[in-house]
Amino acid sequence: MSYDALVISAHPDDGEAQMGGTLAKLADLGQRILLIDLTDGEPTEFAPPGTRARQAAEAARILGVERLSLGLQDRMLQDTSELRLRLASLIREHRPRWVYTTGEGCVHPDHAAVAGLVRAAVFLARLGQWELVPGSESLAEQQPWAIDRLFFPHCKMEPAWSDFAFAVDVSEQYNRKRQALNVYQSIFKVEGDRLLTLYEAEDQYFGRLLGVRYAEIFKSASPLLIEDPRVFLPGIHG
Ligand SMILES: [Zn+2]
Repeated sequence: MSYDALVISAHPDDGEAQMGGTLAKLADLGQRILLIDLTDGEPTEFAPPGTRARQAAEAARILGVERLSLGLQDRMLQDTSELRLRLASLIREHRPRWVYTTGEGCVHPDHAAVAGLVRAAVFLARLGQWELVPGSESLAEQQPWAIDRLFFPHCKMEPAWSDFAFAVDVSEQYNRKRQALNVYQSIFKVEGDRLLTLYEAEDQYFGRLLGVRYAEIFKSASPLLIEDPRVFLPGIHG
């Protein structure tokens, strides 16, 4: 099964918080997107085990994306050779153009592990001769795959970035992002959750900087290249 984009995150809700509006926008444009949650996100603060998985499925439905959980233990995620190879194998299986993963340097140790893991997996997925590397037989049976782009959405546990590669106007999709996050009542309070309020404030802040209501920001693993120099939307100060 091929996808246009893979979004690889530590926990169910990370992809939604970091780039839920962009996910909805890509889905509306007909792009097939798979969210890969590395851990099960358990335990949660407000619900018994298993609740978060059901909420994650509902959030994916709202945004129009698909979802896969690797079921690893929350709080214990580590950048290991085994997990790098597993992710490289998933990249080869799904052959995405774009991979998105949490920006580097986050205070949460699970989040901090993800960027290095995914950077390595993207690189390893394009290499050959795995039959000569002990313990990597699964990759030896798949064709190499080189993605077009590796992007990093901003982790909302970190201070806002002053520098980023691009931003996506998600004003029209924002209500769906809000709905997708609101289903996670295993981790957010039902009414007036402070974290959700702060998440929205960040997206409004970047929207304000860019002259729209809501925006999500991204860094890129490599410089951006465009064919058509007319693609840019108007800037607030030119
Ligand atoms: Zn998380």
